[in-house]
Amino acid sequence: MTYVIAEPCIGEKNGACVDVCPAGCIHTTPEAPQNYIDPAVCIECEQCVLVCPVNAVFLDQELPAEWVHFTEVNAGFFQTNKPLGTLTSAEATGMVAAVAAYAARSGLTVSVTVLDREGSILTAEGADAEEAARRAYTALMYGIATHELQPTSKPLWRQPSEIDVSRVLMTPGGYPVIEGVETLGAVGVAGAPAAQVMLCCQAAVEFRFSHSPL
Ligand code: SF4
Ligand code: SF4
Repeated sequence: MTYVIAEPCIGEKNGACVDVCPAGCIHTTPEAPQNYIDPAVCIECEQCVLVCPVNAVFLDQELPAEWVHFTEVNAGFFQTNKPLGTLTSAEATGMVAAVAAYAARSGLTVSVTVLDREGSILTAEGADAEEAARRAYTALMYGIATHELQPTSKPLWRQPSEIDVSRVLMTPGGYPVIEGVETLGAVGVAGAPAAQVMLCCQAAVEFRFSHSPL
């Protein structure tokens, strides 16, 4: 059994269920019309049912007849958006090289750190690599570039309990690397003004996507 999100979520999609799901198994994409429950991860705790303002969530066996197909719709979302894994060391090396090339063209000396999806360091270079790592970690955990964060921002994909607040630094210069619903890792840059470290991060992310294995 699993819980399933049905048609009433379409057009509503307010994310209340995402905030309470202890398994972190409710996801969507900006383009998708609704949220979806991953049947392989749902622990059937019913928390999402309790908070949904439009009664969109049902146990699969209790779906109204006209919405039975939403079992396939929910599962299908996770087939289409399969986990894509993590950044590799080779990709991190290339991303750092892309940052170095941009910095050299701009007359900058910067530090750069690339993290994998778990927040482990793949590559760290420069005197301010620790600051760069904190920016990368923040982008990784919140699923958004650090210059877009507000003190009240919530993580897009992670549970708040996953975040090590001692590693968080909400200053510009951290970018996540996201494909589909997966955050593959992140890059952080430090040692230059905000606008420049952001451009360095963009060079790294652009490198990753121009060399995507997909
Ligand atoms: S039933 Fe529980 S685990 Fe399953 S999607 Fe709802 S909140 Fe998440
Ligand atoms: S709480 Fe209900 S309407 Fe809101 S995103 Fe979840 S299922 Fe959709």
